[in-house]
Amino acid sequence: MSRRPLVAGNWKMNGLRASLSELDGIGAGYSEALKAKVDFLICPPATLIAEAAARAAGSGVAIGGEDCHAKASGAHTGDISAEMLKDAGASYVIVGHSERRTDHGESDAMVRAKAEAGLRAGLSVIVCVGERKEQRDAGNAISVVQAQLAGSIPDGATANRLVVAYEPVWAIGTGLTPTAADVAEMHEAIRQTLAGRFGAEGKNMRLLYGGSVNPENARSLIIQDNVDGALIGGASLKSKDFLGITASYI
Ligand code: PEP
Repeated sequence: MSRRPLVAGNWKMNGLRASLSELDGIGAGYSEALKAKVDFLICPPATLIAEAAARAAGSGVAIGGEDCHAKASGAHTGDISAEMLKDAGASYVIVGHSERRTDHGESDAMVRAKAEAGLRAGLSVIVCVGERKEQRDAGNAISVVQAQLAGSIPDGATANRLVVAYEPVWAIGTGLTPTAADVAEMHEAIRQTLAGRFGAEGKNMRLLYGGSVNPENARSLIIQDNVDGALIGGASLKSKDFLGITASYI
């Protein structure tokens, strides 16, 4: 099975309702040629999901959440469940982003519970993994990521609903990127790990690269074996930059 690439934007804590004009621009730029080759996803802040889903309807651009709680409902002030995201019009959720792991102390077990919640609610789930700079410098990048995969991905995950995003923490929002060879090496290791655990499903799961992707470096980083798209932060906030990245597929 050939894996259809996914280019996903993570708006993080950026964006007011006026920013949805950029989503409109992304939808307008999602040409028939692109639709034939690549999936588009934008994950805005939770406050914008319902309106984003309504505005993206008909454009083919999917809408996702940036995080979810592990429980479906209950006394968890300020939290948002996967069921709520789905109800608002989301079809994906990102879990385990390094900013969640760092800012909110999310462990692999917590990320796994959130991934299970996303699957329970009927969402596709993007599980983020990635090493810190000192871990790479110590030669431990692959073993760190393998441990995150083991701890963060639920048993029984399938290729149609589970996506892995490899995002080296030191490359997120810094303008720094690994070499294309480093990305290839890591994605090959992730592929082997997933195939070892999930068999054919693991071979078919989409593996995204994330970390300072922009229109200039996208082609060299993401057009390679075992890289099935990108998770994009800063460059997803402007339709021109997002579309500049996706042009790599045409
Ligand atoms: C991210 O937040 O997932 C990300 C990759 O950010 P940036 O593209 O800004 O590095």
